[in-house]
Amino acid sequence: MNYEPIIGLEVHAELLTKSKMFCGCEVVDSITAKPNRHICPVCTGQPGALPVLNNKAVELAVKVGLALGCQIHTESIFARKNYFYPDLPKGYQISQYDQPLATDGKLLIETEAGIRSIRIRRVHLEEDTGKLSHADARSFIDYNRSGVPLLEIVTEPDLRSSDEAKAYATALHAILRYLDVNSGDMEKGVIRFEANVSVREAGSERLNTRTEIKNLNSFRSLAQGIEYEIARQTEIVSRGGIVEQETLGFNETTGKTYSQRGKESAHDYRYFPEPDLPPLILDSDWIDSIRATLPELPDAKTKRFISDFGLTQSDARFLTSELSLANYFERVAAKSNSSAKAVHSWIAGEFMHYVNETGIKIEDVTLPPESFAKLIDMTTDKVIGGNSAKIVLSELLRNGGDPEHIVQEKGLVQVSDESFIKEAVTKALNDNPSEVEKYLAGKETLLQWFVGQVARATKGKADPNVTRELVVKGLEGRRK
Ligand SMILES: [Zn+2]
Repeated sequence: MNYEPIIGLEVHAELLTKSKMFCGCEVVDSITAKPNRHICPVCTGQPGALPVLNNKAVELAVKVGLALGCQIHTESIFARKNYFYPDLPKGYQISQYDQPLATDGKLLIETEAGIRSIRIRRVHLEEDTGKLSHADARSFIDYNRSGVPLLEIVTEPDLRSSDEAKAYATALHAILRYLDVNSGDMEKGVIRFEANVSVREAGSERLNTRTEIKNLNSFRSLAQGIEYEIARQTEIVSRGGIVEQETLGFNETTGKTYSQRGKESAHDYRYFPEPDLPPLILDSDWIDSIRATLPELPDAKTKRFISDFGLTQSDARFLTSELSLANYFERVAAKSNSSAKAVHSWIAGEFMHYVNETGIKIEDVTLPPESFAKLIDMTTDKVIGGNSAKIVLSELLRNGGDPEHIVQEKGLVQVSDESFIKEAVTKALNDNPSEVEKYLAGKETLLQWFVGQVARATKGKADPNVTRELVVKGLEGRRK
């Protein structure tokens, strides 16, 4: 029997506000800030402390709702979600329940089967909890994060594989960065995923019992947790067993899910409207004014890169996957006389290699786009060869400078002068008589090896096309 997985995602994203959701406490980096320094009676749940809504958080949430094509509700209600846990000093979390801020959106994802539209059920505002950590058989709690504005974005169960879940999460991450509403630093826990997973016989329409995997904190964990859960449930149902509804944790070390507790239902939380906050009423003109500020989003930018620059879908998609990357590409392309394809391959190749190797953020790269463009043009105009250009780019990225000066200084100007190259070719053939013999006996792969010898001897200055021609000529000339 064939089984298909049914997956829905809940994404929690911290909003990039200066202060918390319901008090004036500063939002700080939860990794570097000293614990419990940015707290007050409101965010630590002291009796009698009253919440005041952060307008900026609402604005950022509306932005996301609009970007996801949601209907923004001019009236929504904050609700108390009651549960006991040490990271929740109030004993309840202020969230939204039956009247959320935004509903009915969609997000397009690219899958193996083509573009798929994933329905967004709701987007609502809530507050983050504190952060628990455990060491030496003791537990620690940091309330700096208590009350940080959080956006919850919930899909319909439209996803059908871990790859699709990852594609959705990646696309959403990019949108949040384009809108500048979230820092995108996954390793700091500013975006967390929860996945609802069930399996059913392929072709069936029914929805079976699902499990919920909590706190998947990276794209990798998200995919791994879902994979593991699909396999676990498939194994259970294929031998006639029954999947139990429960909440699962995910162990990053073993790649396995584990049972945390029986799943609570909504009624366990005793939701009720938050008595200390009035309904959230939004002016539709205000919503329109936010709509007017929406930037060009990844899908639109990809389309434009294809039509304006003649890039392929996958090249354009790669460049628009991060706003800073797309911006950098556009700035280099604007200054360069070379084709957009050439600019793309330098950025996707050597440039990204440098970024990944050093861990530097693209927005922090100091190389001016015009210098990069000049270097690319020098390779297009065959002033320097590809390998020399890599050396120059590495120098530019690390120490700055002018590409032309570096080329002069390092003596990297490419030579297409035949007599210069011919001399090097003749020497390479003379120095390696047995390779010449093997080539003439039929080992044609040695042609490239000779081109490599010449490149090395001339320190990459010899034009590779001219070199190749002369090597062939030289070798054939030695055929008896
Ligand atoms: Zn506070």
